[in-house]
Amino acid sequence: MSLLAPFERYPLTYGPTPIERLPRLSEALGGKVEFWAKRDDCNSGLAFGGNKLRKLEYIVPDAIASGADTLVSIGGVQSNHTRMVAATAAKLGMKCVVVQEKWVPHYDAVYDRVGNILLTRLMGADSQLVDDGFDIGIRQSWEDAIESVKAAGGKPYPIPAGASVHKYGALGYVGFAEEVAAQEAELGFQFDYIVVCVVTGSTQGGMIVGFAAQDRAHTVIGIDASGTLEQTRAQVRSIVDNTAELIGLGRTIREDEIVINPDYAYPAYGVPSEETNAAIRLAARTEAMITDPVYEGKSMQGMIDLTRKGFFPEGSRVLYAHLGGAPAINGYSYYYKDG
Ligand SMILES: *Cc1c(COP(=O)(O)O)cnc(C)c1O
Repeated sequence: MSLLAPFERYPLTYGPTPIERLPRLSEALGGKVEFWAKRDDCNSGLAFGGNKLRKLEYIVPDAIASGADTLVSIGGVQSNHTRMVAATAAKLGMKCVVVQEKWVPHYDAVYDRVGNILLTRLMGADSQLVDDGFDIGIRQSWEDAIESVKAAGGKPYPIPAGASVHKYGALGYVGFAEEVAAQEAELGFQFDYIVVCVVTGSTQGGMIVGFAAQDRAHTVIGIDASGTLEQTRAQVRSIVDNTAELIGLGRTIREDEIVINPDYAYPAYGVPSEETNAAIRLAARTEAMITDPVYEGKSMQGMIDLTRKGFFPEGSRVLYAHLGGAPAINGYSYYYKDG
């Protein structure tokens, strides 16, 4: 039986996401390791979808039960998360206030007009730009937004950055692990590794708990894109502990089951390196799979570099968890003006 049976889920996605082979990428990386992708970037018709919707499915029932009329959340200017909260609010017929902070030292002229923030505004959210810098923790600007909704007579439902530090924030990705196991049964093999980008932590945190139930959490390779490794690792640790308790896993997750590689977050959160851009181009040119300069480009870079370094033994099957995020690339047009 599913570990998630006791929890209510409000459907925002199409259901299980496809797993597909990446034969041309595998070939380009030497052909000794087989790469596959699980396409959570294609998980929904709501405003281009992505990992935050899988999380929000387990948060929405609580929001509805609370009697709230306004979803309040926070992210960077090109936040995928605030786009997904805005989409959820529109779909539910709720109002939405999102605080968008200057998390990224990046200055494309239209950075605050295109991509995620354009879509967020289009869906009717009140998007408030503020000057604070990057931090995955709880912020004053967010507390202020919650208070302002109350002051105006509304009933806010707060959703933290990335929907991560929320009691139910990681359940969706516990479900991901069960979904992968069911798909593997059909495919007739198990993946040796899963590669996933990590920043606010409940995506990988949920996967760790879900795969721990199958005794293979250590095969989930988190690629940090935050550039603040200690804070991210501590947040994943606490999400993992709370979620294991919540679902009744029945044991504590060991430290060696939390694998986070910090080597690809440079030069900063939200800023791609030359190597990130090379990875984005390779995935685009071999598989027409679009990754973004903030998150997925960095996990793609990590997967490519680890392959070249021989981290994955010959014959391994590696599953790349594609979490979405492509709209942000519009805010980085200068990098890609020549392709
Ligand atoms: C939010 C996000 C991530 C990081 O997920 P966390 O749960 O915050 O660690 C990775 N990729 C994309 C596209 C995202 O939007």
